[in-house]
Amino acid sequence: MKYKAFVGIGSNLGVPTENCEEAICLLNTSPKIEIVDRSNLYESEPVGKIPQNWFVNTTVAIKTSLDPESLLEELFKIENSLGRKRKEKWGPRIIDLDILVYENYVINSATLTLPHPEMTKRRFVLLPLSEFAGDYEHPIENKTISELLKELPENPQVRKISSTG
Ligand code: AMP
Repeated sequence: MKYKAFVGIGSNLGVPTENCEEAICLLNTSPKIEIVDRSNLYESEPVGKIPQNWFVNTTVAIKTSLDPESLLEELFKIENSLGRKRKEKWGPRIIDLDILVYENYVINSATLTLPHPEMTKRRFVLLPLSEFAGDYEHPIENKTISELLKELPENPQVRKISSTG
């Protein structure tokens, strides 16, 4: 599989750690996606004013033969299948999958923005990503993941909750 991408995973409903692990399994069973790296699980304080549970977040590196739009469709399918299992089709989403970067593509279409526009502001994305992609250079900022992470404030809090060995 030719193309490399990073995917962000988050959940704050149901059993968030299981939802994140299941999303990783589903990504890996998809015939056109292969997981090549993953981070630990982190718990992160919710951002914004809406009172809600802490999130569980992680990131993965994948190899894929899907183009960016098809990859996004695949992520939607996985989100839906995790939601349907828990009969929460119309309720809040129990899983959120985002394409963070795809190769060094810069895309601004109606359905897809790459790199993900929020990733540079999110410690819950950059901290897990720094485990395996600290040296990756953001195609617009021209700074590495580690450099971008250093620029972020310590809060909202993000804490490692598991070791994947
Ligand atoms: P959210 O509810 O935050 O997961 O946002 C999903 C919406 O964001 C979808 O309609 C996508 O088309 C759009 N979107 C734009 N860029 C991205 C991206 N890089 N990864 C995932 N969704 C994206």
